[in-house]
Amino acid sequence: MAYSTEAVFRDDAYLRETAARVLAVNDRGGIILDRTIFYATSGGQPGDTGTMLREDGSPIAVAATITGEHKDEIIHVPGPDQPVVQVGERLKLAIDWPRRLLLMRMHAACHLLTVVCPYPITGAAVGEDDSRVDFDIPDAGFTKEAVTEQLMELVRANHPIYTRWIAEEELAANPTLVKSKNVRPPSGTGRIRLVCIGDNASVDSQPCGGTHVARTVEIGEIHIAKIEKKGRENRRFRIRFGAMPAN
Ligand SMILES: [Zn+2]
Repeated sequence: MAYSTEAVFRDDAYLRETAARVLAVNDRGGIILDRTIFYATSGGQPGDTGTMLREDGSPIAVAATITGEHKDEIIHVPGPDQPVVQVGERLKLAIDWPRRLLLMRMHAACHLLTVVCPYPITGAAVGEDDSRVDFDIPDAGFTKEAVTEQLMELVRANHPIYTRWIAEEELAANPTLVKSKNVRPPSGTGRIRLVCIGDNASVDSQPCGGTHVARTVEIGEIHIAKIEKKGRENRRFRIRFGAMPAN
């Protein structure tokens, strides 16, 4: 049986704690709740870790969060040797907020990189210290320094980052809504979550289910650490926090 979990992080990425009820525990010990603030691994963003407090105040460590049979079923994977919860039990959830905030900053930075480098994306992975986006470009002549400067201009401009749901038909009728032409939105669900940057999405909009900071200035200082050649027509850009190290 497949369950459906209300994904609270989708409407409020800044919620660090909330209450939830256990819907099921699967045969591998994964905990499925009625609602959650734990983001499940997908779209290149790793799932959240954190803790769940039982009513007696004892904690259960959450080592990973993944999706189940379908994307609406979110499974909280306990760490080793954690107590087994009961169906119907109430839990107080708390995500590892410092880690999540790093991922939200990095994820937003990846969106900005696709604005600076408007080329087809072949892969992406968001990490706490290092993120990468792979582009289908033969040789764009980009330098780390120039891309970093353009990224930081967008960060400093303090553009808003927000989500907007649109109907699939609206997207089909207005293909320019998706400024990054490289991301193919998932179809078949009826509605699509667009992540928009800038007033009236003036900087970018693209389909994404991840968590992001609310303003570009929250990304903080970032730099392109490397531009690697991955095959004849593929370049991998690595984003890291902080100022570009002096050579
Ligand atoms: Zn995103």
